[in-house]
Amino acid sequence: MKFQPEVYKIPDVKGQAFIDAEEIWNYINNTKAEKERVLEVIQKSLNKNRLSLEETAVLINARDPELIEAIKNGARQLKEKVYGNRIVLFAPLYIGNYCSNNCLYCGFRSTNKEANRQTLSDLQIIKEIEALEDNGQKRLILVYGEHKMYDAKYIAHTVKLAYGVKKGNGEIRRVNINAAPLDHEGFKIVKDAGIGTYQIFQETYHPETYKKYHLSGNKADYENRLVSLDRAQDVGLDDVGIGALFGLYDWRFEVMALIRHTNHLEACYNIGPHTISFPRIQDASNLAVDERYFVNDDDFAKLIAILRLAVPYTGMILTARESAALRDEVIHFGVSQIDGGTKLELGSYSSSLNQKQDLNKEQFKVNDDRSLNQIIDELLDDNMLPSFCTACYRLGRTGEHFMEFSVPGFIKNKCTPNAILTLAEYIVDYANEETAQKGWKAIEKNMESLSEQKMKDSVIERIELIKLGKRDLYY
Ligand code: SAM
Ligand code: SF4
Repeated sequence: MKFQPEVYKIPDVKGQAFIDAEEIWNYINNTKAEKERVLEVIQKSLNKNRLSLEETAVLINARDPELIEAIKNGARQLKEKVYGNRIVLFAPLYIGNYCSNNCLYCGFRSTNKEANRQTLSDLQIIKEIEALEDNGQKRLILVYGEHKMYDAKYIAHTVKLAYGVKKGNGEIRRVNINAAPLDHEGFKIVKDAGIGTYQIFQETYHPETYKKYHLSGNKADYENRLVSLDRAQDVGLDDVGIGALFGLYDWRFEVMALIRHTNHLEACYNIGPHTISFPRIQDASNLAVDERYFVNDDDFAKLIAILRLAVPYTGMILTARESAALRDEVIHFGVSQIDGGTKLELGSYSSSLNQKQDLNKEQFKVNDDRSLNQIIDELLDDNMLPSFCTACYRLGRTGEHFMEFSVPGFIKNKCTPNAILTLAEYIVDYANEETAQKGWKAIEKNMESLSEQKMKDSVIERIELIKLGKRDLYY
């Protein structure tokens, strides 16, 4: 399958701004959403083509409940048809919350005098990771404020530290990053440390709104942030994640801009974003956000389904910012990764105290406080297949979602077997008895979806090896 870069009014130039607010509003204001056209666009996506800006606007403008249901059904079908029932699990780990920026929506912003600041020491980081490993985590995203203490070398140091922590059968096999934009040299340093994805959210793609919410510090520079992932691509860091913080500006504009950003990366680097994130504003210490653009649950579910259909080959991340009930519902619209057992307070994974959230110590409110085991248990009840797979990244298969999407048999021969093996490891090492029983049943059921007997035999053999103590087996 080939990407289909579109022809844009503004040419796509590497490392240069590519958002034209007027162009986006023109699409939204002048695109009609007649029933036939909406169904046609959904079908185009189900045929594994990614959508143009105009087609995305068709879905955005669909308001009839019957058409909204068709969009959600389309996203559900695409998820089932292309990706199956796997959900990859990870945990965020906040390393330091000093910050020199002044983002009005964030509890860590420089002017929030009530924020309780700290940077974990190396020893604290090790303890946190041991605690995460004791819970069964294999994939982390390390998170930092923007501060001169957290430069590329420091980020690289913490990444290497994370990979080095082994407790029992526990180890971290993939470390992703959510931190400030770096310069070319900085991106090279973190790439060489072996990171997975580097995530940078534009927060809002609307330049004037951006100015209103980012009052000072490096982050006040809209363009520097917008083209930062181009710098990552320039030095070969091609595994990048984009996102918008929904609730700052009109959600329709942000969805279109995410697609525009995706197009830009495809057109210039021949590879789209590895993941798209769509955090929604949550309460935070001294939150100073105008509620006018807050996104309600119905629009949020709709926009997730639209993103799935518009970029069918990209990973989509849904975090514990959202409640368990909402996550359980919208996960079916094509989400591929969720966090589990999430704690945002620095040092809290290894703390024996089960404290209530204190917003002065955390970036924002978490609404899903289920433990990792609870989430796995409930995913199993929902016929999903929890996965800790890190095989593509470790075998140098970049663009894994694109491969899942476009390479025939990739899911049956790689993803499902790897999900089964990592779930088997989790069951043997960490699951409680009830979850273990459900987990083995799910493994049995998912084995049936492997069409080739040779692969089935190989997976069975490897599960036996896992029971005997072997770890980290993957295809
Ligand atoms: N400091 C780095 C930066 O700004 O790029 C790291 C990102 S921050 C620690 C992680 C993300 O959390 C931000 O990019 C933003 O989208 C999101 N965030 C900040 N405040 C939030 C809030 N009140 N509710 C929900 N998400 C929030
Ligand atoms: Fe700092 Fe990031 Fe929070 Fe902005 S969102 S104040 S940069 S931690």
